[in-house]
Amino acid sequence: MYYYSTRNKNETVNFASAALSGLAPDGGLFVPEEIPQYSEQVRSSLGSMDFRDIAFETIKPYVKDEIPGNALSEIVQSAFTFTAPLIAVADRYVSELFHGPTAAFKDFGARFMARAFSYLRRGEDRPLRILVATSGDTGGAVADGFLGVEGIFVTVLYPKGRVSPLQERQIAGLGNNISAIAVEGSFDDCQRLVKAALSNDPLKKRAALSSANSINISRLIPQAVYYSAAAGRAFAGLTDPDGNATPRTGLKACITPRRGSPVTLCVPSGNFGNLTAGLYAMKMGAPVNQFIAATNINKTVPDYLDSGEYLARISQTTISNAMDVGAPSNFERMSAHFSWDEMRRIILGVSVSDDETKETILRIAREAGYILDPHSAVGWKGTDKLLAENKIKEGAIGIFSTAHPAKFSEVVEPLTGPVSMPDSLARAMEREINAKTISADVSELIETLYETM
Ligand SMILES: *Cc1c(COP(=O)(O)O)cnc(C)c1O
Repeated sequence: MYYYSTRNKNETVNFASAALSGLAPDGGLFVPEEIPQYSEQVRSSLGSMDFRDIAFETIKPYVKDEIPGNALSEIVQSAFTFTAPLIAVADRYVSELFHGPTAAFKDFGARFMARAFSYLRRGEDRPLRILVATSGDTGGAVADGFLGVEGIFVTVLYPKGRVSPLQERQIAGLGNNISAIAVEGSFDDCQRLVKAALSNDPLKKRAALSSANSINISRLIPQAVYYSAAAGRAFAGLTDPDGNATPRTGLKACITPRRGSPVTLCVPSGNFGNLTAGLYAMKMGAPVNQFIAATNINKTVPDYLDSGEYLARISQTTISNAMDVGAPSNFERMSAHFSWDEMRRIILGVSVSDDETKETILRIAREAGYILDPHSAVGWKGTDKLLAENKIKEGAIGIFSTAHPAKFSEVVEPLTGPVSMPDSLARAMEREINAKTISADVSELIETLYETM
């Protein structure tokens, strides 16, 4: 499979070089030359296949010839030690994407990317130094994904005092091949510092440098997997990760979920990497007919779907802060594959305010006994709005739950009471923070990086 830059169709590279370089030299994003198709046999059994088998079949055509089957199989087994259970809540399905080590969907992409990097660099003597800027969620997932991967060192930059106590421990508590730098400044400062360091010649002489931000194609492709799993199971009317219709305890079974085709999947969106992966899964043959792009008040894409005009803007702060994006970087990738008309036919846009988000967390906890995190609540409420407007076709509805509610306990607990923490988060809370603080100054960053090379 070859990949081209969204800014120049004639410049193609293989998977290894698209993944390891991240961004194309012309500043564009890498997209696959064509979207492969599932075989008829795979397509028709998505509803009953094991999650890792779906992962293998989904990723294989994108890395073919570069990561052979046995190696890919090992990568998939070690990356996806958790799955994405589909459960029935009230009138719809929820696909829970938060069972990985950092309790957000970014674990799927980050863990695959880390293992793919390691394989693609086998036999390489020079260590690779990865620099990541994070506003919170990405840094933890990438750090955890690369923990213990030989020959790769990760440095995460985060804005000091502006990430949650849990996020800071996920970023700065791992040690080993992961180091953390707390920058006295904003997320934008962190990003600026990373960009400057990546193009610093003396530094490039000392180590191979790369970044692992969310536009990396090797993070996006593995995210298509849970779309195919969710659509396949919702289509078949199944609820449990193993295909058994075992109800989750503690839920009030008030309404039977809508079943059958066409399946509509709702994606709480910020940078639109997740939704783009869904579009790939649909093109590959997953039985999904319609997507809901649910945003908070940062509604650049819903507005574009309405008007045909793309207006990037400054992001506004909300309680679903992993989606506070005013200029979604993956929009460029979506437009490389789909025109406005095509997007409008497949994607329903909707935006949800903070008050509506809180009201929804409270209401669904009371009515269904299910606790949504603020991002997933944006998806739930967005779906409600579109249902009220009669815009959703008949058939099953699935909502992606992108984070565990305990990750955003400061928003959720005042509404629902105490939320129990998954073990991985409880363990993370016990870690000691080990970060070096620097000012938002490039030379200070370079000096700090030298000390650890
Ligand atoms: C990153 C993130 C999102 C947004 O995903 P995009 O791929 O950027 O659209 C939504 N919810 C949570 C919890 C996230 O961490």
